[in-house]
Amino acid sequence: MFCPKCGKETKEKGLCIDCFLKRYPIEIKEITLPICKCGRYLYHGNWNLNIEGSLKRIVMENLVLPSEIKMSDLEIKSKFEGNKIILEIHISGRYKNERFKEEILAEIKIQSKTCPTCSRIFGGYYEAVLQFRTDFDPRKMIDPEFISKMERVQGGFDLCLTSSNYAKKISKDFNKKGFLVKESSKLVGIKKGKALHRLFISIKSPKFRVGDFLEYRDKILQILELGKSVRCKDIKKRKMLMMPLPKLQRARLIAKSRDVRKAMVSSIAPNEIQLLDLKSYKTFELGGNFEGLRQRDEVEYLRIGRDVYLV
Ligand SMILES: [Zn+2]
Ligand SMILES: [Zn+2]
Repeated sequence: MFCPKCGKETKEKGLCIDCFLKRYPIEIKEITLPICKCGRYLYHGNWNLNIEGSLKRIVMENLVLPSEIKMSDLEIKSKFEGNKIILEIHISGRYKNERFKEEILAEIKIQSKTCPTCSRIFGGYYEAVLQFRTDFDPRKMIDPEFISKMERVQGGFDLCLTSSNYAKKISKDFNKKGFLVKESSKLVGIKKGKALHRLFISIKSPKFRVGDFLEYRDKILQILELGKSVRCKDIKKRKMLMMPLPKLQRARLIAKSRDVRKAMVSSIAPNEIQLLDLKSYKTFELGGNFEGLRQRDEVEYLRIGRDVYLV
């Protein structure tokens, strides 16, 4: 059989693929995409991130294919140029049991528009205030897209965030790392008969670090691991325990990790051991039952006033 238009030999009746596509080209509907400076774009009523990753889907949804064409694959290359996205679209498919490949050029018009996230930030809108009272600058730990305002205040930073859910997530993360977190909310107004609250979350560095010693009631606790619950060692009883972080805030810091000294067990008696300080080479006795210790073992100890504790 032959193509009635160009006379080329064909397997089936009708136009050959080249003549067919000339008469019924594959087209793309006109697309105008509102895009914000932050990179979000509006499509089907939603603001989304990552336009590059979505271009293929957008093209597919706007492709106009003649019914004789069955598409099997589509690849696109894109390039931003001024207020346009230039597209090079490679389509492969079938036309009457014949495979073909076709390349078409198209463009998407870009319309610059401010997304709701950005307009909230420009408008100074915020739902939550994170009050960092920490010994470091917390800004690099916060997604800048949520920061509407930042203020340096005595002892730290106040960060105004556009989302209270995000603020809660951040405070949870800091709490897990052993920071003290306190939440409160203030009534800031009434809108359409509903009370508007603003969330305030203070985030404070704990007063102590891993390795420090705290006096808590009749215990002396060494901090082993920070968290919502703090892992400690009761050095009088030589026992591990977990303590809620807020409770320990009331404890008194009595020694730092650098106050721990090294000693060697120089002799062992039933209810007493003698230690040799490895820096001063002074010896001293320590009463008590120290199971498991042997002569010449190296130990760490802490002196608090007149008392000595093995750590
Ligand atoms: Zn033809
Ligand atoms: Zn934006």
